Amino acid sequence: MTSSGDMVGLARSAVRALPRLSSELPSCAVDLSDNTNLWGAPPAALRVLRDAPPEALSRYPSVYSEPLHEAILRYVNLSRADGVGVVTGCGSDDVLDSTMRAFGAPGDRIVFSSPTFSMIPLLARLNGLDPVAIPLTNAFDVDAERIVDADAKITYLCAPNNPTATPVSRAAVEYVVANARGIVLLDEAYVEFAPEAFVQLVEQSERLIVARTFSKAFGLAGLRVGFGVGPIRLTRIVERARGPYKVSALAERAVLAVLDSTADGVDWVRAHAVLAIGNRDRLVTTLGQAGFDPVPSAANFVLVPTARALDIAQRMCARGVLVRSFTGLPLEIDALARTGGSALRIGVGPWDMMQTMLSVLAEVSA
Ligand SMILES: *Cc1c(COP(=O)(O)O)cnc(C)c1O
Repeated sequence: MTSSGDMVGLARSAVRALPRLSSELPSCAVDLSDNTNLWGAPPAALRVLRDAPPEALSRYPSVYSEPLHEAILRYVNLSRADGVGVVTGCGSDDVLDSTMRAFGAPGDRIVFSSPTFSMIPLLARLNGLDPVAIPLTNAFDVDAERIVDADAKITYLCAPNNPTATPVSRAAVEYVVANARGIVLLDEAYVEFAPEAFVQLVEQSERLIVARTFSKAFGLAGLRVGFGVGPIRLTRIVERARGPYKVSALAERAVLAVLDSTADGVDWVRAHAVLAIGNRDRLVTTLGQAGFDPVPSAANFVLVPTARALDIAQRMCARGVLVRSFTGLPLEIDALARTGGSALRIGVGPWDMMQTMLSVLAEVSA
């Protein structure tokens, strides 16, 4: 007999070295920690789930969510006629993971800005990739030349960027897409809140895949659906790495209903993104008046550098408001160096939630 410890030793070392994501986030009455749609979900999706026929549970979904592809292309204003394809996934995390697995062999380099979406270094290590992090500039833009100079197999950009909420300049995106050697993976998870989108660039690039999600503006994080668009030759490769049946039949029906319906679907999403943008700008102003120095946001959340981030977040949580705290952010960025690399990330929702958050923040930081 061998002890179970030895069996654990059989696990791939890249897997053993990974942390299991903590599920211990406390639950709070007001949860502003994950950038989801705090107004809820589109009525068209709720209707589909309520009225689903038994086959939506008893039968398999389509292999690669083919019924969604046309609707997604219509939503992003691209056409199959231009050689553009779609790959769906169990959340866009799955698309990011599958793209890394499709193109990155163990030991290959992946480059990204720092700070960026926390899943990226995790997924990179899971796939045996060598992660290279290049700090954002002092203006919170992608340092395009250094990113390209890293000469990586895969380049990840996040526009707007999580957790800074800052946009990436068109010049930086275009420089990277024009000069990168390998695959460019551009994550537009928060594009609905941003002044510009870059998805149209996939028509002119043979290396660009743009990832998007239904988890944020679309209010469907619990359904777990995301997608990538890019040259169909690339999306087909990512589909192979992803594997079949990753999007459930219920999720497929709900997303299709949202994309196909105006008032209760896409228009609902757009109208609530407009509300989020209004409240975000009001929140940034209010935080400034309260003596904070929030980073200008192009997303549905706001990064607030403060040396006391950890302490403030813990005390807010005890008073029923959950926000994310970050420590160890790159000190190369002046605005973050001033707080020793600490900041709060606060999700934007209905104004009564923002008011609750602001009064609790005032109490604990007094
Ligand atoms: C939330 C988020 C995602 C995606 O999430 P899924 O729920 O897996 O679709 C992707 N990228 C960024 C930057 C995010 O913040």
